Amino acid sequence: MAQKDCIFCKIAGGEIDSEIVYQDDRVVAFQDANPQAPVHILIIPRKHIPSLKDFSEEDFDLLADIHRVAVKLADKEGLTEEGFRLVNNCGSQGGQTVDHVHYHLLGGRQLTWPPG
Ligand code: AMP
Ligand code: ZN
Repeated sequence: MAQKDCIFCKIAGGEIDSEIVYQDDRVVAFQDANPQAPVHILIIPRKHIPSLKDFSEEDFDLLADIHRVAVKLADKEGLTEEGFRLVNNCGSQGGQTVDHVHYHLLGGRQLTWPPG
């Protein structure tokens, strides 16, 4: 299931170091290497799916798993009261730079809208 040369598959498989904050059999969450906010965690499915646009029908259950983990991590990080943002960048104009689908959990400062 892991894609050769995919950096996020390697993180999920423990082949390269990262600061993992949550993992189960379907989802892995780890600290973003270049944080854009006091809390910046990436949440990925273990399954290699390049992008949100590549999801097949059976993959959509993973979004519920990712959201469940995001809400739990937001609470653990103390973000529940003030709020947070959960973001997916899809494709080049969406700003996606790593081709293994991931959600950014951002919080701990006032975020602006639109994101630019
Ligand atoms: P995106 O631009 O939405 O594709 O987001 C990719 C994110 O992955 C960026 O926020 C990067 O800082 C982050 N990133 C890239 N390589 C690593 C890595 N090895 N460990 C943790 N985060 C990474
Ligand atoms: Zn991958």
